Amino acid sequence: MEVYLAQPRGFCAGVVRAIEIVERALEKYGPPVYVRHEIVHNKYVVESLKNKGAIFVEELSEVPPKAVTVFSAHGVARSVEEEAAARDLPVLNATCPLVTKVHNQGKRYITKGRTLILIGHAGHPEVEGTMGQVPGPVLLVQSVEEVNALALPADTPLAYITQTTLSVDDTRDIIAALQARFTDIQGPDIRDICYATQNRQSAVRDLSKLVDVILVVGAANSSNSNRLREIGTEAGVASYLIADGSELNPEWLKDARTVGVTAGASAPEVLVDDVIEAMRRIGPVKVQVLPGREENIEFRLPAELAAS
Ligand code: SF4
Repeated sequence: MEVYLAQPRGFCAGVVRAIEIVERALEKYGPPVYVRHEIVHNKYVVESLKNKGAIFVEELSEVPPKAVTVFSAHGVARSVEEEAAARDLPVLNATCPLVTKVHNQGKRYITKGRTLILIGHAGHPEVEGTMGQVPGPVLLVQSVEEVNALALPADTPLAYITQTTLSVDDTRDIIAALQARFTDIQGPDIRDICYATQNRQSAVRDLSKLVDVILVVGAANSSNSNRLREIGTEAGVASYLIADGSELNPEWLKDARTVGVTAGASAPEVLVDDVIEAMRRIGPVKVQVLPGREENIEFRLPAELAAS
């Protein structure tokens, strides 16, 4: 079996930074360090940090007084920041700088008196964080149908922002529908969309031209990993999302001569290796990494950890 590895795949700079924040906090302050929400959507990553002394909670009320607390890469609402401040919790904020950038864009549009539309998935922690960061009403739209159902006059001054794990291609139709319906609408520069999302999606499109089956390594609750699988499927290639090698179903590969493997932004390379090992147990495998875009983005750590 020929295996092609998509390039780029796996960890993005925001995920690398978030994990490093927890690891350095554990080194500097000692365990336990409390993390609100899964630091990134990957069980393997969460379990390895748990083994080093991180404790994951969903609500700040579960954090004991004075305990070092990390906010996840997805960002949090202002109410969460205020609760942490009111409780005097020492907070390290692992919100990805690109998510913070979206928050800031939203705030700017609201200050200019525009009604704000967020293009994203209801219930995703990033969406909840963004809606809770912007000081004004935010209308969430998930589809062209929802744009058409907006009960707003055509000349309402509007602006839109997008969830970072949607790519330019994901949002194109929704933005076009907004622009067709509303006469006074502004949005961020298209280059502001997360580089990692765009690059991983383009790499899967390239991969789908070469292979019979696509395996996306990632967690079931990872938005960007699910999207990679959908892109493979939309391109007409049987595509499966798997957490690790133990989930590989030999039936999927029965008639495949070429298999493409990629990984969501929160999936570590060790799990890609695990999937390839599982394939080797089925039959001989030849692995090639596809040429693709080089990424050399790095985000700075919070000042209190940078020097440690
Ligand atoms: S996918 Fe993009 S926005 Fe999300 S953590 Fe990674 S770099 Fe940041």
